[in-house]
Amino acid sequence: MRIPMIDLARQHQALAAELGAAWQRLAGQGQFVGGAEVEALQGEIAQRIGVRHAIGLANGTDALHLTLRAAGIGAGDEVVTSPYTFIATAGAIVHAGARPVFADIDPRSFNLDPAAVAAAITPRTRALLPVHLFGQPAEMQPLLALAQQHGLAVIEDCAQSFGATIGGVATGALGLAGTYSFYPTKNLGACGDAGAVVTDDDALAARLRRLANHGAGAPQEYLEVGYNSRLDALQAAALRIKLRHLDGWNAARARIAAHYDELLADLPLVRPQRGGGRDHIFHHYTVLLERRDEVAAALRAEGIASAVHYPRPLYRQPALAAYAPAAPLPVVEDVCRRCLSLPMYPELQAQELDTVAGALARALGR
Ligand SMILES: *Cc1c(COP(=O)(O)O)cnc(C)c1O
Repeated sequence: MRIPMIDLARQHQALAAELGAAWQRLAGQGQFVGGAEVEALQGEIAQRIGVRHAIGLANGTDALHLTLRAAGIGAGDEVVTSPYTFIATAGAIVHAGARPVFADIDPRSFNLDPAAVAAAITPRTRALLPVHLFGQPAEMQPLLALAQQHGLAVIEDCAQSFGATIGGVATGALGLAGTYSFYPTKNLGACGDAGAVVTDDDALAARLRRLANHGAGAPQEYLEVGYNSRLDALQAAALRIKLRHLDGWNAARARIAAHYDELLADLPLVRPQRGGGRDHIFHHYTVLLERRDEVAAALRAEGIASAVHYPRPLYRQPALAAYAPAAPLPVVEDVCRRCLSLPMYPELQAQELDTVAGALARALGR
């Protein structure tokens, strides 16, 4: 049995008729960028997250970059973020002209360690950029307290956490703004690239809309030099269809994670943490184990995919070497050496989980 990391075809087969009808309707109208479908999606996302504004954008990287710019963060400013995330998180800080400052992570949640964040704050710090990694909310209460104490903006990278909550509040609704990616493999994915920002701040929302559309104030009037980061109508239509299924899919991910937990309970590995009033939606199911690369190769030999999220701390990427901390951060170094993500998507069947667990047990010599 061959088991991939994610099987987007399974999801799209079930939605093919609905997606096809929406696409035909929009093509018939000649509506391809912006318009009623995008407006409707923005309203549905804002309502779903519980904020006043959602702004559809071209992708999740732009969502981060334009939010930092709209918040007035740029040259000379520092933004404290995680070294254990996709490169776009830190790349957006560099794009905005600011400096990413990496703080170490918590070994159990894989998210920013609030004590390490506190130690990384300097007089130049302007914002905190936590990531709700793998779908588990970051420890937001201490981060929000630090931000308040030091007068910092908090921008949440929610690219992996659509629908995750903390004490019933959606990720994205806790800070100044939350940014989303709808890249196809995310837990809410479009049929191409797409992204969004959510915020309760009217001025930030207005500036974001402007920046995403060439800085236009009124038609043919440009107040600042902006960007082209508009959302396609076709992607908005696909996202509206998929948004209606998201709760079911997130619940399926949680069931699959609980099933993995049972199957892997006796193996020599560290299973994902959850709890603390934080509702994990399992964008990825990531374990820590020794001899990671050998284990991955053994799985691959049995036709089972796995993935390393992420093989090195961001400051060890050549592109970001200039932002390396004075000394390596010990927790993220260890996690990068031992992490392995197992196949995770809502359509995974119980029998497939048994197959993954069996192969993993053999790979670990059990
Ligand atoms: C995917 C992702 C992004 C970037 O989103 P794109 O839509 O690919 O530009 C940013 N941050 C995190 C944590 C991500 O997983």
